[in-house]
Amino acid sequence: MEDKPQGLLISPIKDGTVIDHIRAGAALTVLRMLGITGQTEEELSIATNVTSMTCGQEGKKDIVKVSNRELSKEEVDRIALISPKATINIIRDYIVAEKKGVETPKLLYGIIKCTNSGCISNANEPIKSAFEVTEAGLHCLYCDTVITTDIESHII
Ligand SMILES: [Zn+2]
Repeated sequence: MEDKPQGLLISPIKDGTVIDHIRAGAALTVLRMLGITGQTEEELSIATNVTSMTCGQEGKKDIVKVSNRELSKEEVDRIALISPKATINIIRDYIVAEKKGVETPKLLYGIIKCTNSGCISNANEPIKSAFEVTEAGLHCLYCDTVITTDIESHII
Protein backbone atom coordinates (compact mmCIF):
# COMPACT_ATOMS: atom_id res chain seq x y z
CA MET A 1 0.00 0.00 0.00
CA GLU A 2 2.84 2.33 0.85
CA ASP A 3 4.91 1.40 -2.14
CA LYS A 4 2.81 3.06 -4.82
CA PRO A 5 3.22 6.74 -4.03
CA GLN A 6 6.87 6.23 -3.12
CA GLY A 7 7.55 4.59 -6.45
CA LEU A 8 6.32 7.71 -8.14
CA LEU A 9 8.18 10.00 -5.84
CA ILE A 10 11.66 8.58 -6.36
CA SER A 11 12.56 6.47 -9.35
CA PRO A 12 13.76 2.90 -8.72
CA ILE A 13 17.46 2.20 -8.53
CA LYS A 14 19.30 -0.75 -10.06
CA ASP A 15 21.82 -1.40 -7.32
CA GLY A 16 22.24 0.27 -3.99
CA THR A 17 20.50 0.93 -0.70
CA VAL A 18 17.14 2.43 0.15
CA ILE A 19 16.82 3.81 3.67
CA ASP A 20 13.15 4.26 4.42
CA HIS A 21 11.15 5.48 7.42
CA ILE A 22 13.85 7.91 8.46
CA ARG A 23 12.49 10.35 11.01
CA ALA A 24 11.24 13.41 9.15
CA GLY A 25 13.99 15.99 8.84
CA ALA A 26 16.80 13.54 9.66
CA ALA A 27 17.77 12.53 6.11
CA LEU A 28 20.67 14.96 5.87
CA THR A 29 22.02 13.83 9.22
CA VAL A 30 21.85 10.24 8.01
CA LEU A 31 23.92 11.19 4.96
CA ARG A 32 26.43 12.98 7.11
CA MET A 33 26.76 9.91 9.34
CA LEU A 34 27.46 7.79 6.28
CA GLY A 35 30.13 10.20 5.13
CA ILE A 36 28.14 11.13 2.05
CA THR A 37 28.55 14.73 0.95
CA GLY A 38 28.00 16.57 -2.29
CA GLN A 39 31.67 15.97 -2.98
CA THR A 40 31.50 12.18 -2.86
CA GLU A 41 30.52 10.21 -5.94
CA GLU A 42 27.36 8.37 -4.86
CA GLU A 43 24.22 8.97 -6.84
CA LEU A 44 21.54 10.05 -4.37
CA SER A 45 17.82 10.59 -4.22
CA ILE A 46 16.43 12.22 -1.13
CA ALA A 47 12.80 12.79 -0.23
CA THR A 48 11.94 14.67 2.92
CA ASN A 49 8.68 15.12 4.79
CA VAL A 50 6.94 12.42 2.82
CA THR A 51 3.45 11.60 4.05
CA SER A 52 3.41 8.08 5.39
CA MET A 53 0.78 5.91 6.98
CA THR A 54 2.06 3.86 9.87
CA CYS A 55 -0.33 1.96 12.12
CA GLY A 56 -3.20 3.91 10.62
CA GLN A 57 -1.65 7.19 11.69
CA GLU A 58 -0.54 9.74 9.20
CA GLY A 59 2.97 10.96 9.76
CA LYS A 60 5.97 12.31 7.92
CA LYS A 61 9.16 10.53 7.05
CA ASP A 62 12.30 10.93 4.98
CA ILE A 63 13.65 8.48 2.41
CA VAL A 64 17.19 8.23 1.05
CA LYS A 65 18.31 6.15 -1.92
CA VAL A 66 22.00 5.63 -2.55
CA SER A 67 23.01 4.04 -5.83
CA ASN A 68 25.91 1.64 -6.19
CA ARG A 69 26.56 1.36 -2.50
CA GLU A 70 25.50 -1.24 0.07
CA LEU A 71 25.59 -0.11 3.67
CA SER A 72 27.43 -2.21 6.21
CA LYS A 73 25.75 -3.45 9.37
CA GLU A 74 27.76 -0.91 11.35
CA GLU A 75 26.57 1.94 9.16
CA VAL A 76 23.00 0.73 9.43
CA ASP A 77 23.21 0.57 13.21
CA ARG A 78 24.50 4.11 13.44
CA ILE A 79 21.32 5.27 11.79
CA ALA A 80 19.39 3.81 14.73
CA LEU A 81 20.86 6.53 16.92
CA ILE A 82 18.79 9.18 15.25
CA SER A 83 16.09 7.10 13.62
CA PRO A 84 15.26 3.85 15.41
CA LYS A 85 12.37 3.07 13.06
CA ALA A 86 14.37 3.24 9.86
CA THR A 87 14.33 0.28 7.50
CA ILE A 88 17.05 -0.58 5.03
CA ASN A 89 16.57 -2.40 1.75
CA ILE A 90 19.56 -3.53 -0.25
CA ILE A 91 18.71 -3.45 -3.95
CA ARG A 92 20.41 -5.66 -6.52
CA ASP A 93 19.27 -5.51 -10.12
CA TYR A 94 16.08 -3.60 -9.19
CA ILE A 95 15.03 -6.26 -6.69
CA VAL A 96 15.10 -6.04 -2.88
CA ALA A 97 17.84 -8.55 -2.12
CA GLU A 98 18.03 -7.93 1.61
CA LYS A 99 16.00 -6.13 4.26
CA LYS A 100 17.70 -4.95 7.40
CA GLY A 101 16.22 -3.38 10.45
CA VAL A 102 18.31 -1.04 12.51
CA GLU A 103 19.51 -2.03 15.96
CA THR A 104 20.76 0.42 18.49
CA PRO A 105 24.42 -0.42 19.03
CA LYS A 106 25.64 -1.02 22.59
CA LEU A 107 28.96 0.73 22.18
CA LEU A 108 29.86 3.63 19.94
CA TYR A 109 33.45 4.26 18.98
CA GLY A 110 34.43 7.45 17.21
CA ILE A 111 30.83 8.36 16.44
CA ILE A 112 29.86 10.83 19.16
CA LYS A 113 31.84 13.82 20.36
CA CYS A 114 31.94 14.11 24.15
CA THR A 115 30.32 17.28 25.49
CA ASN A 116 32.96 17.62 28.20
CA SER A 117 35.71 19.79 26.73
CA GLY A 118 38.11 18.44 29.36
CA CYS A 119 37.49 14.84 28.29
CA ILE A 120 40.60 13.03 27.08
CA SER A 121 38.72 12.10 23.89
CA ASN A 122 38.61 15.83 23.09
CA ALA A 123 42.32 16.33 23.67
CA ASN A 124 44.65 15.80 20.75
CA GLU A 125 45.22 12.21 21.78
CA PRO A 126 45.15 9.44 19.20
CA ILE A 127 42.04 7.84 20.71
CA LYS A 128 38.50 7.52 19.49
CA SER A 129 35.58 8.66 21.62
CA ALA A 130 33.82 5.76 23.33
CA PHE A 131 30.23 5.73 24.53
CA GLU A 132 28.03 3.09 26.04
CA VAL A 133 24.35 3.31 25.10
CA THR A 134 22.32 3.16 28.32
CA GLU A 135 18.73 3.82 29.32
CA ALA A 136 19.77 7.19 30.70
CA GLY A 137 21.59 8.28 27.56
CA LEU A 138 25.05 7.98 26.05
CA HIS A 139 27.67 7.39 28.69
CA CYS A 140 31.26 8.47 27.94
CA LEU A 141 33.62 5.66 28.93
CA TYR A 142 36.46 8.11 29.55
CA CYS A 143 34.93 10.81 31.72
CA ASP A 144 31.47 9.50 32.71
CA THR A 145 29.62 12.37 31.03
CA VAL A 146 26.11 11.28 30.02
CA ILE A 147 24.58 12.86 26.94
CA THR A 148 20.80 12.75 27.16
CA THR A 149 19.53 15.31 24.69
CA ASP A 150 20.15 16.42 21.14
CA ILE A 151 22.33 13.43 20.33
CA GLU A 152 22.17 14.38 16.67
CA SER A 153 24.29 17.47 17.14
CA HIS A 154 27.07 15.49 18.84
CA ILE A 155 27.57 13.04 15.99
CA ILE A 156 31.05 13.41 14.57
ZN1 LIG B 1 34.03 12.22 27.84
